[in-house]
Amino acid sequence: MKPQINRRQFIKVLSAGAVSLALPGCVGPGKLNAGRGKEKKPNFIIIFCDDMGYGDLTCYGHPTIRTPNLDQMAGQGQKWMNFYVGASVCTPSRAALLTGRLPIRSGMCSDKRRVLFPDSAGGLPKNEVTIAEALKTEGYATACVGKWHLGHLRQYLPINNGFDSYFGIPYSNDMDKVGGQGREAFLEPKIEYFNVPLMRDEEIIERPADQNTITKRYTEEAIRFIRKSKNKPFFLYLAHNLPHVPLFVSKKFNDKSLRGLYGDVIEEIDWGVGQILRTLRREGLAENTFVVFTSDNGPWLTFKEHGGSAGLLREGKGCTFEGGMREPCIMWWPGKIRPAVVNDIGSTMDLYTTILTLAGANVPTDRVVDGLDLSPAIFGTGPSPRKVMFYYRGAKLYAVRKGPYKAHFITRLAYGKGANKEMHHDPPLLYHLGHDPSEKYDIAKDHLEVIAEIRKEITLHLATLVPGEDQLAKRIGKK
Ligand code: MG
Repeated sequence: MKPQINRRQFIKVLSAGAVSLALPGCVGPGKLNAGRGKEKKPNFIIIFCDDMGYGDLTCYGHPTIRTPNLDQMAGQGQKWMNFYVGASVCTPSRAALLTGRLPIRSGMCSDKRRVLFPDSAGGLPKNEVTIAEALKTEGYATACVGKWHLGHLRQYLPINNGFDSYFGIPYSNDMDKVGGQGREAFLEPKIEYFNVPLMRDEEIIERPADQNTITKRYTEEAIRFIRKSKNKPFFLYLAHNLPHVPLFVSKKFNDKSLRGLYGDVIEEIDWGVGQILRTLRREGLAENTFVVFTSDNGPWLTFKEHGGSAGLLREGKGCTFEGGMREPCIMWWPGKIRPAVVNDIGSTMDLYTTILTLAGANVPTDRVVDGLDLSPAIFGTGPSPRKVMFYYRGAKLYAVRKGPYKAHFITRLAYGKGANKEMHHDPPLLYHLGHDPSEKYDIAKDHLEVIAEIRKEITLHLATLVPGEDQLAKRIGKK
């Protein structure tokens, strides 16, 4: 069945700029909950990119990258304008999404090494409860397809973290580098330069992984899983390895985009999203499947046109300016979600709590969970409960957002020149992200009361904080 919202109604909602309009075919969580038990539990799909920027989709303002499938998904669902990841680099960001907790609590961030590497001995601690583990208790089929990066040793792999199956490269696509010279290896990459393994469950099935076809194969694997699982509730975590540098693309998309190779890569991912949504419609699953599309961190700016764009946001991957941690986020659930452009604040950690709640699974109460239930904003019954966002770099708290204001106590630039210089600010730099989304105009001296409010949030936050044991500093064969 097609979504019941026509284009005219959708435009009306957009121009009203509100999430509280009633639309035919949309139900709030009340009706969902009332039907629970009789109704089938919803399916969940999270599509997670690697290093895609805030400005890399047509529907987020990119002038030359064409993303018709994501644009349509945003038009039929919600486009979040203030959506954050839990960290500005891969490993901690992924830990935040899958556990609903700031990585400092799980130990999945570090000031010694920023992510896990092929010689890393650590990984996601066993006592963390992933989305997949929580959904297993509710009878869900679960699959992880793509980049894992939460530990490649056996005990840390997806199938030991709540997923029934795994198909993918267990860490970044630029690791295990065995060939090519310096930057050239990244800018004119060959498959054999990067000896990354492709795994099925616990076995390596291809090495080096053929990265030219990896986006296509991840999409096909995702579709197979959806078809196979259609008679029971399922959770699919599809984490693309791209557009992380080095860039690879299949023949069909090579040299097609006006944006060059980076655009080709995004356009292939967009194609994959279209295939998945089409499959959901064909299989009659669309109205019972909540699909979210976002990315793990901002663009890798040091690779210039091989990296993406954060649009008008400042800086990119690796730092706590907005370009490092604010991402496009599109939510889709025909007939359920209230179509809107959402200006409320949300985060990947909130997806954890929202999904568990919608599935009727227990959100752990024996630990601090940072995720909040976004249902009011998603179903149009109220605002997002998230008002505050903490920006960590490694194990240090650098910045805090409260409402439209963001205070930077410490800053460092994105990966590249200047990234090693840590600057402390007292008073902090203060920006109004509504008036000044590019963080250009420091207004601290005129808003000392705002800074005092933000300091109170920090005190409250630190009162609950027990840092986990650093998992990223551990190396194989070393103490
Ligand atoms: Mg990344």
